[in-house]
Amino acid sequence: VVVGAGFTGLEAAAALAGRGKVVLVDRSEVVGHQLGTGPRQAIEAALDRLGIERRLGTTVTGVGDDWAALSDGTKIPADAVVWSAGQRASALTAQISDGLDTLDRIPLDRRLRSVHAEIFVAGDAAAAPADAGHTVMQACQHATPLGKVAGYNAMADLLRIPLRNFTPGPYVTCLDLGAAGGIFMRGWERRVLAVGEHGAEIKRKIMASLHPPVDNAELILAAADKVHIDMPCFPC
Ligand SMILES: Cc1cc2nc3c(=O)[nH]c(=O)nc-3n(C[C@H](O)[C@H](O)[C@H](O)COP(=O)(O)OP(=O)(O)OC[C@H]3O[C@@H](n4cnc5c(N)ncnc54)[C@H](O)[C@@H]3O)c2cc1C
Repeated sequence: VVVGAGFTGLEAAAALAGRGKVVLVDRSEVVGHQLGTGPRQAIEAALDRLGIERRLGTTVTGVGDDWAALSDGTKIPADAVVWSAGQRASALTAQISDGLDTLDRIPLDRRLRSVHAEIFVAGDAAAAPADAGHTVMQACQHATPLGKVAGYNAMADLLRIPLRNFTPGPYVTCLDLGAAGGIFMRGWERRVLAVGEHGAEIKRKIMASLHPPVDNAELILAAADKVHIDMPCFPC
């Protein structure tokens, strides 16, 4: 039983599908509620292909050693219950700001400085402006450049040299759906650009690009100098 049909729950359910029967539970009436309508059809087709049962508009009311009870009154025998709901930033953020956003993140200006305290923030704790009307996602494609700019600006502030603005590259999402391949999407409305094996190949390239060099000073400095992760070139 996988609880939460968001990004993580969908990937977990798809990865487990080859090992036995998977039941995906979400209190929303649709899968991938936060991903919007763009990829929904492709996600549903992949779940059908993988034989993943959905219990939507339902939540978990109890979990035991080998069962999960649902709000529709059913009790499902389960070898494992995977919890993938309730995304939150670290509780440490409450010590820094009392104006946290709905994910408990610290509101920042474009230079990644807290609007309430003399502190720079990066990664999943950062509620930084991405572009007009959007705040960054709790995702590595934002976490990595946030770290570079926050680190640079903290030093620049100490050295009294100009700070730089955080300007992320175009937003993309890539969902790994195991044996059903992947779904690659572009933009905040998550327009589907690739599905199946092509989508999975793009996801593999993205994952490979996330690991920074660790033992070569020249490569480390070259990577640090780039503000964005290079996403695979893809025609819009
Ligand atoms: C299951 C899952 C799948 C994901 N898939 C994707 C994906 O496909 N694409 C994508 O873009 N994003 C994905 N993400 C999100 C991505 O992993 C995060 O956005 C990113 O890792 C955040 O980076 P971070 O540095 O802020 O935090 P983390 O990567 O969580 O790093 C925080 C580090 O700080 C350490 N730490 C914590 N507290 C302390 C302390 N008190 N003292 C010292 N060290 C401490 C932790 O051990 C950890 O090493 C996924 C996340 C999850 C959980």
